[in-house]
Amino acid sequence: MKIHEYQAKQILAKYGVPVPHGSVASSVDEATKVAEDLGTDVCVVKAQIHAGGRGKAGGVKIVKSAKEVGHAADELIDSKLVTPQTGPEGKIVKKIYIEEGSNIEKEFYISMIVDRTTNGITVIASTEGGMEIEEVAEKTPEKIYTLSLEPNTEIKTNEAKKITTQLGVQNNLKTKVVDLILSLYKAMTSTDSLMIEINPLVTTKEGEVLALDAKIDFDENAFYRQQDIEELRD
Ligand code: ADP
Ligand code: MG
Repeated sequence: MKIHEYQAKQILAKYGVPVPHGSVASSVDEATKVAEDLGTDVCVVKAQIHAGGRGKAGGVKIVKSAKEVGHAADELIDSKLVTPQTGPEGKIVKKIYIEEGSNIEKEFYISMIVDRTTNGITVIASTEGGMEIEEVAEKTPEKIYTLSLEPNTEIKTNEAKKITTQLGVQNNLKTKVVDLILSLYKAMTSTDSLMIEINPLVTTKEGEVLALDAKIDFDENAFYRQQDIEELRD
C-alpha cells in the first residue's frame, strides 16, 4: 500500500529521520495559515499524489511568501497532474504539503527494498539524487552502490559508514548521514515496509542532512500487526 509524502515523512520523523518542517493542507486558507505558521523565507508547495515525477510536471512550487503559497495552493488543489508516473490520465490533487525550503548543497539517492526471494533488505545509494534511479541505472550504473543484507541481519554502523564514503559525503556530515541510514533501516523493519525511497536526500549549505522526498510502500500482509498504518489508506 502506498501513502503520501507527508504521511511518509511523519512516519520517518518518528524513527529519527530528519525532515523539513511542514504541514498538509486541502484549501487555500489552510495553506496560507501553514505558511504563516512556518514563517520561513522560502516555502515549497508540493502536490500530494501517489506518483513521483511531480517536480518536472509543475507539482512542486518554490515560493517566497505566504501569499504566494496561497496562489500555488489555488493552482494545485483540484488540478490534474500528469507526470511520467501517473500515466496519461494523470491524478487529481486533493492535498498539498507546505514545507520549509532547503538551501540545497547536494542531492543524493537512497532506498531500501525487501528482496522478495530472500526477504533480505537491499540498500541502494547514488550520488545522482533527484533523478529517477532507473535512468541512472541505464546511463551511469557506476554511480549506484548497493548493499545486500542477509535476511534477519541488522545493518551495521560500519556498513552505513561505507555507504557514506561511497557517496563522497563531506567529512563533517558523515555521522549525520550514517544516523539517517540507521534510522531509515529502523523505520523500514518496524513498519513492515517493502520499500522506502528517499530521493533526494540532501545536504544543505547550513550543514544539515534532510530527507526532502519520501516514498514508502507497505506490506499489506502485515497489517494485522500494523493497524495505525492501515489507517493511512486514502
Ligand atoms: P518528485 O520526486 O515527485 O519530483 P520531490 O519531492 O523529489 O518530488 O521534489 C522535486 C525536487 O524539488 C527535488 O529534487 C528538490 O530539488 C526540490 N525540492 C523538493 N522539496 C524541497 C524543499 N523542501 N526545499 C528545496 N527544494 C526542494
Ligand atoms: Mg523525489
